Amino acid sequence: MLPTRGYAAQNPTSKLAPFAFERREPGPSDVLIEIAYCGICHSDIHQARDEWGGALFPMVPGHEIVGRVTRIGAKVTRFKVGDLAGVGCFVDSCRTCESCRAGHEQYCETMPVWTYNAKDKSGGPTFGGYANQIVVEEPYVLRIPAGLAPDGAAPLLCAGITTWSPLRHWGVGKGHRLAVVGLGGLGHMGVKFGKAFGAEVTVLSRSDSKKQDALRLGATDHQATGHPETFAKLARRFDFILDTVSAPHDFNDYLELLKTDGTMILVGAPPAPTPLAAFPLVLRRRRLVGSLIGGIRETQEMLDFCGQQRILCDIETIPIQQVNDAYERVLKSDVRYRFVIDMKTL
Ligand code: NAP
Ligand code: ZN
Ligand code: ZN
Repeated sequence: MLPTRGYAAQNPTSKLAPFAFERREPGPSDVLIEIAYCGICHSDIHQARDEWGGALFPMVPGHEIVGRVTRIGAKVTRFKVGDLAGVGCFVDSCRTCESCRAGHEQYCETMPVWTYNAKDKSGGPTFGGYANQIVVEEPYVLRIPAGLAPDGAAPLLCAGITTWSPLRHWGVGKGHRLAVVGLGGLGHMGVKFGKAFGAEVTVLSRSDSKKQDALRLGATDHQATGHPETFAKLARRFDFILDTVSAPHDFNDYLELLKTDGTMILVGAPPAPTPLAAFPLVLRRRRLVGSLIGGIRETQEMLDFCGQQRILCDIETIPIQQVNDAYERVLKSDVRYRFVIDMKTL
């Protein structure tokens, strides 16, 4: 076993604190990665505080992982020692169901093995990226293209793919008006990808405080949902809405902003349900859909695209000792636009 250092929550109300644990000894198809950077996703906070239910403790969060390969198993062919590698939200899946065979491992019939807060195939707990190293089987490890800064690339492994996948799946691009709701970690990547795909992007944020950022990130418009007239003014304006909001909010109001046949895509995962009326959908044949991260193949496509287009996340790098403060700041939306932990500080 490999002695490993990380930061863990011991229960839903404890702060994250240093935690020693063991990773498995790398097997023939395993890649051992020395973690350089790990992003802080709002899902880390939902889970560390058990807001979605069923959390397993102690919990080492983190699923936006980039680091250097330090050892490979005998059967590994796509990586060599010294390569930059990435790990996202899952580290295994059944590999045989329809979803897995189609490359949509995130929708595995028996659930993927999540990078943390889950059990692996041997029944042991998985621990995430707030740690110095991780062992992952090669098919679930991503290549980080040369030329992408490893810290700015780390949040592509969740915030990037979660916004890329639905925009690609529903063909959002030239000629479409896209609204991105919530300018946080996911939202700012939704703006960048929406623009890169040729859509006209509007940011819907609660206040005007991020307006300049929205325009700099590639939006052509920004509207504050806190202003009383905003919803009436934007009625039936958009072909697509990408909703990245982390807290419960009224979907009905946003659905009214879609044209006939428009599509609202939920990627935000608020812990509590929201009442939904029939009429906003029925009257204009609108669609309300959801989307979960992305499969390995499309994650690699996204990373390669970002390598070619030089697309990175806007980050604030922190030492791991500040992780609890960073959680509080994420909850106040006081981050431009993703915290990334520098694992040298562990
Ligand atoms: P984040 O950085 O905290 O961004 C969320 C944004 O939502 C905030 O910046 C804020 O934008 C807005 N917001 C927050 N509270 C709000 C409220 N009460 N009412 C209205 N807007 C509010 O979080 P994130 O990391 O981007 O994650 C966003 C959500 O997506 C989380 O629920 C996370 O668990 C989920 N997620 C889902 C997937 C998936 O596969 N579907 C993957 C990753 C994360 P403004 O300040 O601009 O209003
Ligand atoms: Zn995430
Ligand atoms: Zn499967």
